[in-house]
Amino acid sequence: MRTSQFPLSTVKETPADAEIASHKLMIRAGLIRKLAAGIYTWLPLGLRVLRKVEQITREEMNKAGALEVLMPALQPAELWQETGRWEKYGPELARMKDRHDRDFCLGPTHEEIITDLARNELKSYKQLPITYYQIQTKFRDEIRPRFGVMRSREFVMKDAYSFHLDQASLQQTYDVMYQTYTNIFNRFGLKFRAVIADSGAIGGAVSHEFHVLADSGEDAIAFSDSSDYAANVEKAEALAPGGERPSPAQTMTLVDTPNQHSIEEVSQFFQVDATRCLKTLIVRGENAPLIALLLRGDHELNPIKAEKIPGVLSPLQFASDEEIVAACGCKPGSLGPIGLAMPIIADRSAAIMSDFICGANQEGKHYSGVNWERDLPLPEINDLRMVVEGDLSPDGKGQLTIARGIEVGHIFQLGNKYSEAMNASIVNEAGKNQIMIMGCYGIGISRVVAAAIEQGHDERGIIWPNELAPFQVAICPMNMYKSDRLIDTVEKIYTDLLDAGIEVLLDDRKVRAGFMFSDMELIGIPHRIVIGDRGLDSGTVEYQGRTDKESQEVPFAELVDFIK
Ligand code: ATP
Ligand code: MG
Ligand code: MG
Ligand code: MG
Repeated sequence: MRTSQFPLSTVKETPADAEIASHKLMIRAGLIRKLAAGIYTWLPLGLRVLRKVEQITREEMNKAGALEVLMPALQPAELWQETGRWEKYGPELARMKDRHDRDFCLGPTHEEIITDLARNELKSYKQLPITYYQIQTKFRDEIRPRFGVMRSREFVMKDAYSFHLDQASLQQTYDVMYQTYTNIFNRFGLKFRAVIADSGAIGGAVSHEFHVLADSGEDAIAFSDSSDYAANVEKAEALAPGGERPSPAQTMTLVDTPNQHSIEEVSQFFQVDATRCLKTLIVRGENAPLIALLLRGDHELNPIKAEKIPGVLSPLQFASDEEIVAACGCKPGSLGPIGLAMPIIADRSAAIMSDFICGANQEGKHYSGVNWERDLPLPEINDLRMVVEGDLSPDGKGQLTIARGIEVGHIFQLGNKYSEAMNASIVNEAGKNQIMIMGCYGIGISRVVAAAIEQGHDERGIIWPNELAPFQVAICPMNMYKSDRLIDTVEKIYTDLLDAGIEVLLDDRKVRAGFMFSDMELIGIPHRIVIGDRGLDSGTVEYQGRTDKESQEVPFAELVDFIK
């Protein structure tokens, strides 16, 4: 490609709503443009990257024996009513009516659609196990779309669904998918961790998330390099060995809310150091949702002021840790490293805090849950406990590190949740009808692009891993691309590289070198070749890798091998 045919859409200005590096850089480098909140157009440069993510994913899914399909974005309500999710899913599900007044939704996920397909297409156990997948546009009316395509309302997902006769077969495919995901994220060239996860609104028992490690990640994950154990902190809390539990307090629902309020926001609000905060939560009390902040145990808690969120808050002040702990009726440190939740309605705060911190239970039912708009029962908070940096992993093999991650993939063993509700059965070996069991496997294709930038960037722009770069090589001819001698050499090098199967962007704009360089650095091309008159005489180009400190001379003849 030549910049004359492939114009770069780089811009200097960063949009006011861009909070994190990837969002800023995706706009500045001209990868995406915003159409409306959480809705983006992919420009040619961005689309090249998105397609690479898709292609690697597709190749590895095919290798694993999954079959590609393409399901509709628009889905009839009837199927969602069969599983009960039409009512349960909440406002994230974009619903609409057609001209005949029939209910539809824009698919946020496709369990209902694939289960309908499977119950119609699959007849005999001989067709099992089978895995279908698609790479398709999803719509979720996120309460707070943000971070560009990282948390958008319309996005591309790879979603796969497997069907089985028995648990052993599901486990086998699940293991294959786990390995396939590992291969995919390795091929992307990203640092990631697979962690035990909560299965949330999708349901099912066993589940793992794949997180790209990045400080801007919305999730906290706990892992140890000397142990196989790794978990989303949410789940780690439920899994960690129990401590001494003080007596219970009162009924409430605990609802996780990683997306509603950032740690930064809530910690600022409470005037506590954000680095000491693990997560924010919505605690649903009997009367109103409360916002809570979970801190590491070693913090110094200064008087907390809560006064600003209208409708939810009334002022609350605590003097010290001791006071809070006393109000909760538990011994300081009784849970090992103790965490504190600070609900912000004054009159109910102490009781809720004690509930939360201690994870105590009572004759009332206690639940922990996912996003507060989806009201789904999850494991009891009885087992809830903070996990902090340095804790021993449950297998005792290593100390836990807590890092922030971006959830880019999620795999689940669904069991019969959907197949039973929708009566997706098959004739088994004994000639009897048997309900199938299912797994499902998602990758946030568009989120991966943003996550790669979160992991790879500097003050000059994006640093793509080779596999995801829109082009591998940028050729920058000097002297405004004017002399015939220069043009001949540049064209030859350009064709040689293309013939070797390398993707090249030749900057044939007649612009200053500095201008070219800053564009190529901003868009993150891994290899840059500068060709000038001096090199013409000596038969060399000036090569500089995107992260190299200095350039080096490479002879024309060795260039292709050097780059490959
Ligand atoms: P999150 O916790 O970030 O809201 P999720 O758990 O709701 O994600 P899943 O239902 O597990 O998402 O969907 C599979 C994958 O789709 C996620 O792992 C993530 O990579 C991607 N994804 C989910 N929501 C969005 C979104 N709003 N924008 C971009 N990608 C998303
Ligand atoms: Mg979500
Ligand atoms: Mg999630
Ligand atoms: Mg998920």
